[in-house]
Amino acid sequence: MTTFPRRLSLGQLPTPLHRLYRAEKRWGKGHRLWIKRDDLTGCLLTGNKVRKLEFIAAHAIDNGFDTLLTCGAVQSNHCRATAFVGAQLGLAVHLILAGPPDESNKGNFFLDKLSGAEISHYGKSEYKKNLNSILLEWQEHYAAKGSKALIIPTGGSDGLGIWGYIAAAQEISQDLKRENITESHVICATGSGGTQAGLSIGAEICDLPALIWGVNVSDNADYFIRKIKRDFNDLKSRSSGFDNIKLEARVLDGYVGEGYGKAGSIIYELISELASLEGIILDPVYTGKAFHGMIAEIAKGTFSEAKDIIFVHTGGIFGLFASNEGIRA
Ligand SMILES: *Cc1c(COP(=O)(O)O)cnc(C)c1O
Repeated sequence: MTTFPRRLSLGQLPTPLHRLYRAEKRWGKGHRLWIKRDDLTGCLLTGNKVRKLEFIAAHAIDNGFDTLLTCGAVQSNHCRATAFVGAQLGLAVHLILAGPPDESNKGNFFLDKLSGAEISHYGKSEYKKNLNSILLEWQEHYAAKGSKALIIPTGGSDGLGIWGYIAAAQEISQDLKRENITESHVICATGSGGTQAGLSIGAEICDLPALIWGVNVSDNADYFIRKIKRDFNDLKSRSSGFDNIKLEARVLDGYVGEGYGKAGSIIYELISELASLEGIILDPVYTGKAFHGMIAEIAKGTFSEAKDIIFVHTGGIFGLFASNEGIRA
C-alpha cells in the first residue's frame, strides 16, 4: 500500500465529473466525452496547482519553512495559486517571474499583486539560463535574515507535488466506478509534467481502467518523457513503495502551435465554441490547446478501442482574462 504524505485541505475536492453531451455529438465520433472539473478546485485557487500545493504546503509547515519561493511566467497559474495558498496560511510568498511586469496589469499577475506576494522580475534569457542560481540566491538571502524559504520548482512539479495527482487518480477511480466506466482514456494539458506524472503513477497504483495522455503545450514529447521520469525518480528517492510501478508517459505532441503561451485563431474559436456549447471556459495557454489536441486525436482514431474519454480541465481562467484579444465578443 502506498502511504501518502500529510496534506492540507486547500482545494474544493472532490471535483465533479460531467458528461459533455453536446460536445460529444460535435466531436466525439461515437465516444462518450467527460470532463473532470479541476477548474472548480476553488475561486482564487482554481486549477490543478492547488492539488500539488496541498502536499507542498503541508511539507513546508511540517519542516519549519515560513516562506514559499517559486517561479514561472508573468501569467503563471502556479504562481498565483502559490501566492494565495501563502496568504491563506500566513506564509510569506516570493515569486520569481520571467519577463517584465505585464503593463496591462491583468489576470494572474494582477492577482499576484493583490495577494501581497513579493515579486521579482528577471529578463527572459537570464531567467532561462540562471533560474536555479537565482532561486538559491534568494533562499540564502532569506536564511541570512533568519527565515526559511522553501523552493517550489516550476509548476510545483517534483516528487512532492505530484502526490496531488496521484491522489486525483484515486478520486477519478471513484468517479469511474460510480459511472460504470470500465475502459477509458484520460487526457490533460502538460506544461511542467507533474499532472501527467501523478495521474500516470496513480493510475498504476489504483489499477485505473484508463490510459493517461498529456498534450504538451511547450517543448516536445521527448522532453516531457524525460521530465516525467525525473519527477518519478524524485518521488522514489523520497518515498518507498513504488518499486513495482511501471511508468509510461504518453505524450500527444503536435499541438504547441507557435509556442508556449501563444495561441492562434483555431484555439480562440474553440474556446468560444465550447463556451456556448457547454458553458465551459478553456484558456489559451493550456486547456484550449489540450482540448484541441484531444479532438484532433479523436478524429484520427487514436482512442478507438475505448468508448469513454475524460478531459481533465486543469483551470487557467485568469490566463484568459490576460490574453483575450483573439476572442470576438
Ligand atoms: C500548470 C497548468 C497545466 C499543466 O500542468 P503541469 O502539471 O504543469 O504539467 C495545465 N493547465 C493549467 C491551466 C495550468 O495552469
